[in-house]
Amino acid sequence: MNENKWESSVRKVVPYIPGEQPQFSDVIKLNTNENPYPPAPAVRKVLEDFDHGRMRLYPDPDSAVLTNAIAKRYDLKPSQIFVGVGSDDVLSVAFMTFFGSDKPILFPNITYSFYDVWADVYRIPYRQIPLKNDFTIDPEDYKTENGGIVIANPNAPTGVAAPLEMIEDIVNANPDSVVIVDEAYVDFGGESCLPLIEKYENLLVVQTFSKSRSMAGMRIGFAMGSEKLIKYMNDVKFSINSYTMNHITQLCGAEAMTDEKYFRETVDKIIEVRERSKARLAELGFKFTDSKANFIFASPVKKSAKYVFEELKKRRIFVRYWNKPIICDYLRITVGTDEEMEKLFEALEDIING
Ligand code: PMP
Repeated sequence: MNENKWESSVRKVVPYIPGEQPQFSDVIKLNTNENPYPPAPAVRKVLEDFDHGRMRLYPDPDSAVLTNAIAKRYDLKPSQIFVGVGSDDVLSVAFMTFFGSDKPILFPNITYSFYDVWADVYRIPYRQIPLKNDFTIDPEDYKTENGGIVIANPNAPTGVAAPLEMIEDIVNANPDSVVIVDEAYVDFGGESCLPLIEKYENLLVVQTFSKSRSMAGMRIGFAMGSEKLIKYMNDVKFSINSYTMNHITQLCGAEAMTDEKYFRETVDKIIEVRERSKARLAELGFKFTDSKANFIFASPVKKSAKYVFEELKKRRIFVRYWNKPIICDYLRITVGTDEEMEKLFEALEDIING
């Protein structure tokens, strides 16, 4: 297509493609790693009690209520916490803030597919490092000159978790660049590297309310790290948009962070259903990784993943499939409720063996 002259100065990017959000009911939605349970009960109370006149006013630009609740939960200073509109926002600000080097940043070739998109939009050079055949990381690959490192742990879409020692090995070998560990799924059985932030000034740990705290729709993510890292991120954030997080979200987030009992119950339930689902998948001949996340990355073996994906969709069951090298034989199945998983397995039984 002919390009107009003005288009030569346009910042052109190939955007990230989010999972489908079907806008009709009666679907079983296991495609975007949402939590099947509602948020903590106190969140509902915030909504019920909310004075809508408060909307006249700008929200607190520091999101202090929320930041303080997170600080208390993780035994940190509020100045060690950055909050954003989903961890996508937090990661995006972190990329913009820390990856200003001419050297390439490093991340695995199979990982969250937003990393290369942010690198492209911010013009950050990057190198994708192949995972081993079992989808694990070789830490030696990350001991080379770089402009920064990003590791999702547990990784997406594989669910594979790296042990804390491996993460520390990588951070320890890279004192000259910022290492971001994306722990979106860590509450479901991974090992958080949060304890390491006191030891390594250049380590940023990113987490989210979207998965283990059932609030994907509210958009809350946060980063934890040294006061220095957090200050640098806030300087960038306040140079773009001070009021990113609305008032209601700040209040709801603070409540969700405070209800430890509900958090534990729902996370434990998801882990239990995940482990039972693995056994069912094995019976159906699926091959899968030992996921420590709220999803299972599984290959149907007897039928193609694409075929199973399409057949499930016909039955109004949504899972995630990527027509991409290396992972095209796999489906990523979010762990739903017992009832949802029962329907999934009935359908799979029919599709695989019927
Ligand atoms: N990191 C990883 C690895 C993810 O899978 C996701 C979810 N798509 C995110 C970050 C972003 O999640 P959110 O913006 O909802 O916090």
